[in-house]
Amino acid sequence: CGIVGAVSTRNIVPILVQGLQRLEYRGYDSCGVALYAGGLKRARSTDRVATLIEQIEQEHLEGTTGIAHTRWATHGAPAVHNAHPHFSHGPGANASAKAGRIALVHNGIIENYIELRKGLQAKGYEFASQTDTEVISHLVDSLYDGDLFDAVKAAVLQLQGAYAIAVFCKDEPHRVIGARAGSPLILGVGKDGENFLASDAMALAGVTDQILYLEEGDVIDVQLGRYWIVDKMHKPVQREVKTVQAHS
Ligand code: GLU
Repeated sequence: CGIVGAVSTRNIVPILVQGLQRLEYRGYDSCGVALYAGGLKRARSTDRVATLIEQIEQEHLEGTTGIAHTRWATHGAPAVHNAHPHFSHGPGANASAKAGRIALVHNGIIENYIELRKGLQAKGYEFASQTDTEVISHLVDSLYDGDLFDAVKAAVLQLQGAYAIAVFCKDEPHRVIGARAGSPLILGVGKDGENFLASDAMALAGVTDQILYLEEGDVIDVQLGRYWIVDKMHKPVQREVKTVQAHS
């Protein structure tokens, strides 16, 4: 339902959760945040964003890179284990004991998720949720070979349906990759090299008014002080940054 992501050098938790609160009006049944803090850390809740914030404070979660989500369930009941972000721990029987490698949030519906899930299970991936979304996190992991942008570009070629995604990898902690088709996703260009992703400019009100609207099929590599976009043919493209007054 709602997505916020950030690449920064300061603790980004306040901006991520404020962004979720600005998207609350859209409705949601659960929410969550994943952060890079040495490894991947995550908090998820089937309660309000305010409860998620308490959980984050109790667990002292902080991070400079992160993604956050409000979920409106389409596949899989509203439950903590179905809430985003979804992690991939890599294939193998002991995968659940390992720390997560890929963290991903998704808006939309993946139509061919059952077929993709079968293929990934055959490769040894274990599923921790009933969502269509979790296939994307394992698919990206299965295609990951040291460059998350390449992995996401390859993964989206296999997706049928509607998606806006934000994904990061603990091995490339200063990078968030976004992609969209059928669901909106924007880049917010911040100060001091900070960059943000969101499903709606409203989520970044008060943070930045410098907004770039991604187009259908775009994939974006978001880093500190730079970003890079390819179109649906994977050709590099420039998109215009506009000044947007978000009303809150
Ligand atoms: N289809 C996904 C799910 O059910 C994402 C739903 C959403 O857009 O929030 O988890």
